[in-house]
Amino acid sequence: MVMKCPYCQCDLIEGFIDTPKFSLRWHNKDVGFLEKHTVFGGETLCNNLSPLIKCYRCKNCNKIIIDLNELPKWE
Ligand SMILES: [Zn+2]
Repeated sequence: MVMKCPYCQCDLIEGFIDTPKFSLRWHNKDVGFLEKHTVFGGETLCNNLSPLIKCYRCKNCNKIIIDLNELPKWE
């Protein structure tokens, strides 16, 4: 089944983002100065033991969609 882009309905290309050295962390837009400019805080979405971030890319509107449920969980 080919996933569709929720923005433009084009077919999404399945692939992955390679992060050999860093973890992938989420920060809300309106975080404080300390969290924004240091390595502290944030929600770890995937750690560096599993460097391949599965995702879907839309070439048409240049967006990448990551299903967080398909990422290895941080323990
Ligand atoms: Zn799109």
